[in-house]
Amino acid sequence: MFYIGCHLSASKGYLHMAQEAIRIGANTFQFFTRNPRGGKAKDIDEQDVAAFLELISEHQFGPILAHAPYTLNPCGSDPRVRSFAFEVMADDMRRMAYTPGGYYNFHPGSHVGQGIEKGIDLIVELLDEVIDPNQTTQVLLETMSGKGSEVGSRFEELRAIIDRVACPEKLGVCFDTCHVNDAGYDVVNDLDGVLDEFDRVIGLDRLHAIHLNDSKNPFGSHKDRHEKIGEGTLGLEAVTRVITNKRIRHLPFYLETPNEIDGYAREIQLLRQIRSDE
Ligand code: FE
Ligand code: FE
Ligand code: ZN
Repeated sequence: MFYIGCHLSASKGYLHMAQEAIRIGANTFQFFTRNPRGGKAKDIDEQDVAAFLELISEHQFGPILAHAPYTLNPCGSDPRVRSFAFEVMADDMRRMAYTPGGYYNFHPGSHVGQGIEKGIDLIVELLDEVIDPNQTTQVLLETMSGKGSEVGSRFEELRAIIDRVACPEKLGVCFDTCHVNDAGYDVVNDLDGVLDEFDRVIGLDRLHAIHLNDSKNPFGSHKDRHEKIGEGTLGLEAVTRVITNKRIRHLPFYLETPNEIDGYAREIQLLRQIRSDE
């Protein structure tokens, strides 16, 4: 099964996202749990969620991926920044319980000058407060490009977080193709080498999702600007190798390319043609 989807707006609720996904040929999707700049999430509408769950099971969707607001910083130096991150993530975990078995992706954070080690300690502290050992939601650390003081652009940093949390079995990784290439892992010329390195450092069994993006910037630029599929420095051939690679082709792929819904529909159609053997 090829699980492919894109980022969708959550403003009209869960059922609407599933309907939108089906309309554009997707069988999974990503959404922000709330306004990306933070703020209060819409109340859960249980009828909406029930209709949504029925529709996605009927259409055999892959796991849906919730994305934390990108302003959330679990390892900020200001305690108010960290308590905001705690409030949002704890609330998101409660909300995700309505859609069991989903993925929750977040940016590990920026250490803002405190150093990687201190950053990792603060991230672990926060995760231990918000993760309940009985939850069905899998929390994913996103691979980052390493702009500014971002934690998580080296696989070793993600591994250190997983090693130190109380519930490592609830933690995994989401691999963003734009970020990883921007971080200096050669996705274009040596995808297998990058996956070997990921496997050696973190373990491919911890990899649960792929953010499928082209990049506006060159290899190792530490920039993080996504480009449409085939129009960036990765290019369609590299993207093709990603979605057909034996070790990761079974994972769900989520587009976060600069597109409106019609552009996403075209990209999904293109990627489905490449995987047309299934
Ligand atoms: Fe992200
Ligand atoms: Fe991403
Ligand atoms: Zn990005």
